[in-house]
Amino acid sequence: MMSAMVKLNHHYQKLQPNYLFTEVEKKTETLLSREPGAKLLHLGVGDISMPLPPAVVEELVQASLEMGDPKKFRGYGPSQGYLFLREKVAKHDYENLSVSPDEIFISDGANTDLANLQEIFAPDVRVALPDPAYPVYLDTTIMAGRTRLPLKTGGYGGVVYLPCLEENGFQPLPPPTHADLIYLCSPHNPTGVAMTRPLLEQWVDYAKRHRSILILDAAYEAYINDPEIPHSIYEIEGAKEVAIEVKSFSKNAGFTGLRCSYTVIPHQLRVADTGSIFSLNTLWKRRQDAKTNGVSYPVQRAAAAVYTEAGQAQVKGLVTGYLERAKVLGDGLRALRFAVFGGVNAPYLWMGVPERFNSWSFFDYLLEKAHLVTLPGSGFGKTGEGYMRLTSFGTKEAIAQALERLKAL
Ligand code: PLP
Repeated sequence: MMSAMVKLNHHYQKLQPNYLFTEVEKKTETLLSREPGAKLLHLGVGDISMPLPPAVVEELVQASLEMGDPKKFRGYGPSQGYLFLREKVAKHDYENLSVSPDEIFISDGANTDLANLQEIFAPDVRVALPDPAYPVYLDTTIMAGRTRLPLKTGGYGGVVYLPCLEENGFQPLPPPTHADLIYLCSPHNPTGVAMTRPLLEQWVDYAKRHRSILILDAAYEAYINDPEIPHSIYEIEGAKEVAIEVKSFSKNAGFTGLRCSYTVIPHQLRVADTGSIFSLNTLWKRRQDAKTNGVSYPVQRAAAAVYTEAGQAQVKGLVTGYLERAKVLGDGLRALRFAVFGGVNAPYLWMGVPERFNSWSFFDYLLEKAHLVTLPGSGFGKTGEGYMRLTSFGTKEAIAQALERLKAL
């Protein structure tokens, strides 16, 4: 067979195979082929399990009907997103923080922007990211050629890892070294721990001293319960000069299958380079104008419905439901003497594995002995070894049954 001869982006060769989910699937299928009657319970899934709230569905239907009406249909929308949605985000999510609609960019998902934001920076900027972390930060850093090869000790050369350990309360601390672009995630996937106000202050201070940029992934912001935890990095003085914030409708309003999110790039966020000063907001707007025609009109109308009175009540109901399950799961596991973290300001729980196991051997044990499908923490980075990520996205019944099975082990 003929092969094309076009030089590839060789940085893709440095990527590790998407081992975590394929391995979980493979092991689960093997068990089912051995024990076809096994009733598996899934405790590790990161996708929501409740449908879209009725207020969202209603608006989605109405807006879709408009698209078939010769008088009302819409063609291309603004690449930055419709003003009706950006105004709602600014007014509701940034009340008292003076974020204006033109600092908000609507997107088809947090993932998209977390990955693409890197492209407005030079190839040799140094990236820092939490360990363990949601994989998109590292994968896209590798794809962009901002790492060296994988190290024998785990991790990639050229990346600044921010270890989230029990000793530091799973809080990613500013490192003693320099980093240009820093990914932070609060509440954090996979540990389920949210960053405290003093820590966010330390990060803003670090970014100012190092003249770096923070990218805060706040996809789980709606789950913050603790009144001491900031809901936005812009609650920290000076953060608008150093931070981009990314939020999503996926995990609060169930948009994982519908796709809508937003990114805030304040006008104060300016970068000095080659003797000139650049506005990141202007650069990103230019990039969006060139590369996207935005998110569909019905989806943006559906997202705007999240901010109606009914939408707010329904979203609160969804989030409260997931948090209640997280509490049941956390309390149940603690009663069984497992070390469990997170689950208070996030739908994720970070469970320590008993001493005689590592993440994968404990995964195997739980799968074989209790038919529980979990997620090994080591799949999120080398510091995740020794932990499992559990989620409260499963049903109440599944959580109760899972606890019963664990008790019986
Ligand atoms: N950020 C984190 C930390 C996540 O866990 C996820 C999805 O699981 C995302 C971003 C992706 O969000 P979206 O569905 O908006 O792309």
